[in-house]
Amino acid sequence: MPELPEVQTVVSELNRKLKNKKIKSVQVLTPKIISIGPNTVSNVRSVSPKQVQQFKKMLIGDTILSVRRRAKMLIFDFKGPLSMLVHLKMTGQFIYEDAKLRKKSGGKYRILNKPTAPFVKFPTKHTHVIFTFTDNSTLYFSDVRKFGYLKVLKDTEVDQVKELQTFGPEPLSKEFTFQGFKDKIGNRKSVSIKLFLMDPKVVTGIGNIYSDEILFHAKVRPDRKVSKLTNAELKEIFKYIPIVLKQAIKYKGSSVGDFVRTDGQWGSMGKHHWVYGRYKETCKSCGTDLKRVTLGGRTGTYCPNCQE
Ligand SMILES: [Zn+2]
Repeated sequence: MPELPEVQTVVSELNRKLKNKKIKSVQVLTPKIISIGPNTVSNVRSVSPKQVQQFKKMLIGDTILSVRRRAKMLIFDFKGPLSMLVHLKMTGQFIYEDAKLRKKSGGKYRILNKPTAPFVKFPTKHTHVIFTFTDNSTLYFSDVRKFGYLKVLKDTEVDQVKELQTFGPEPLSKEFTFQGFKDKIGNRKSVSIKLFLMDPKVVTGIGNIYSDEILFHAKVRPDRKVSKLTNAELKEIFKYIPIVLKQAIKYKGSSVGDFVRTDGQWGSMGKHHWVYGRYKETCKSCGTDLKRVTLGGRTGTYCPNCQE
């Protein structure tokens, strides 16, 4: 599942590539991927042909001004009084193809992050929405698991979107302070620090990968109860949150699972993981065998020697 660095990578690339692109046509191959209005998107929703027509009508002829991010939500701002919110969820992907990339790639991309995965021609059977711009460049939205969505709404309705209201602070913003972070512990004293970091109400955009990495640097085991952490340990964790996330953004995210960049390339942060995805390997710092622990259905990997 993409976390903040992966979503930020996609947002930065789309913002650069889609600025001032005017939509010529929209193809909706899987109606259940789209949604209209501010209401929460249900996974079992049914979308009528009429709503598909409305979705297209709202977007065709409009021009994208910018693409930004709040938590893991992508927010496309249009010249008209419209916005489009996109959540990639588990396996959502955007590929943006212009004449240059089309020539280079032959229209084929590897959508899974395995060296053995085949290059497939786009659109694939997992491509659900295709935008074509007036300069004939194309944006494909694909999603193997189909939990992701594209929601179009009026600018004035964005504030009503519940998913945007419940998020905690952005970890790379000034609003994210040590005191605020500590206060979130409140009476949730028995929660483990890994699950605490992964709670979007505490801080947004941290999932399985970066919670493991942050805790390795802070030298704290993932299963420690938040109430048992010293102030010094909490400070170390807080300190490493932006350091680790910024490093991951620099390397364009971790290509694990289905994450690819908007040109089909992989992010290279995976090569720099200290613990995540390295169970059964040894600690890069001290050589001890890494261990893992299951917490609320999630698995944390850690070094039993470096982390206490
Ligand atoms: Zn170690």
